[in-house]
Amino acid sequence: MIDLTITEALAKLKSGAISSTELTKAYLDRIEKYGKELNCYITITPERALSDAEASDARYAAGNPLPLDGLPIGMKDLFATKGIRTTAASRMLENFVPQYESTVSQKFIDAGTVLLGKTNLDEFAMGTFSKTSYFGAPVNPWQMERRLTAGGSSGGATSAIASGLAIGGTGTDTGGSIRFPSAITGLVGMKPTYGLCSRWGCIAFASSLDTPGPIARTVDDAALLLSAMAGHDEKDSTSAKGGFHAHTPLDPILGNGKKLRIGVIKEFANVEISADMKKLLENRIADLKSIGAEIVEVSIPNILDALAAYYIIAPAEASSNLARYDGMRYGLRVEGDDLIDTYKKTRAAGFGEEVQRRMIVGTAVLSSESYEVYFMQAARVRRMISDSFNKAFEQCDLILCPASAGTAMPLDSDLTPLEYYALDLFTVAMNLAGIPACSVPAGLAGNGLPLGLQVVGKRFDDMRVLQLAKHIEQFAGVDNRPTKIMGK
Ligand code: GLN
Repeated sequence: MIDLTITEALAKLKSGAISSTELTKAYLDRIEKYGKELNCYITITPERALSDAEASDARYAAGNPLPLDGLPIGMKDLFATKGIRTTAASRMLENFVPQYESTVSQKFIDAGTVLLGKTNLDEFAMGTFSKTSYFGAPVNPWQMERRLTAGGSSGGATSAIASGLAIGGTGTDTGGSIRFPSAITGLVGMKPTYGLCSRWGCIAFASSLDTPGPIARTVDDAALLLSAMAGHDEKDSTSAKGGFHAHTPLDPILGNGKKLRIGVIKEFANVEISADMKKLLENRIADLKSIGAEIVEVSIPNILDALAAYYIIAPAEASSNLARYDGMRYGLRVEGDDLIDTYKKTRAAGFGEEVQRRMIVGTAVLSSESYEVYFMQAARVRRMISDSFNKAFEQCDLILCPASAGTAMPLDSDLTPLEYYALDLFTVAMNLAGIPACSVPAGLAGNGLPLGLQVVGKRFDDMRVLQLAKHIEQFAGVDNRPTKIMGK
């Protein structure tokens, strides 16, 4: 039952071949078996899951199921869930139980899903391997004995979904945190257009970049999840009007005489990528050409400066967003000699090293001496990148590029902070521009591990992004069934 995709499971639930309770129990059993080893959940909610499932079965029995009724999902532990501990993988919020529900998790409730638990992540979503989690890193189920990273920051979600410990789930992508972990676990990860999914109740990292989105095993599944997550929200001032509604299976965008111009980014040509990635990119481009795609070279002149701009803007926003954790209202409090000492002790104990580093950098670049030379300069680069994408989309319909340079690395890789930051090279520009980008399995590398390609579109072209991703998925034919990946 674990190997069913969302689309398959929904069909079986509808026909009555399986019940949500059966499906949910199968997932809970598997969480019981492998959850500790994979460390993909921070909090498991079996009682809630079973009562959600029971309610879902009743709706099916009454003949009025909701769009995603009965699907057992994992919620990234950055989304506030009413009455359920929400930690952001930080000691600061280790015992925080929200009194409200985030918009995205509420939308999943409204769509009838079953909550299995809250998935692990990098502390406050800052990281690339999920190693900055206060609760330890999740493990990639591919070649599990090698203890590879499942990526970050949504690494708990990708570990859980790839291993069959959730049928799908949520991530957030500020600089690549949906796409990178999805790419190295053989999953589909969609970062929608900024504003398409509400940020309300999602613990803030960098508000102008934070983008909730779905992670699933197929493109159709991701499209279904996104349909439930998206939509205007008055509680989020940056929420876009309109929404996203997919009918699955998604319609082909190529073949049968349909033409499409696919851009490849000139400046990425000189970036070092693995030989496997290079080959898969070439192969998939050849496949797409064979069904009517025209390949055009486009230029995003400042794209290689995106990393520098991102690592100024994101920490700047984080330093402001995380100022609220002062031990006064909620979260950890370490009593000091006086007010200032309490702040210091609380924040020193509550935040991990990477989060502290970001706040120091962020505070520095916002200081009056640095504001103009760092922050404003980064903001200008951001604008130029966004303008260049707009220009590029006059020459092409969608863009194709790698989602990462290579396959999953061992969790014990000893990288410097800057080396971790450099892994975001292929993903951060799309956040700066606020445009949709989907990571889709492109094939397997020689070492047997999955690699992902990224389809990028203009703002609100989320549907076409997914449609092209689906063609790539079909050509790549990666078998990502959990029992196949784990051999059990
Ligand atoms: N790796 C990036 C960072 O550490 C992206 C994180 C994210 O998208 N949440 O900032």
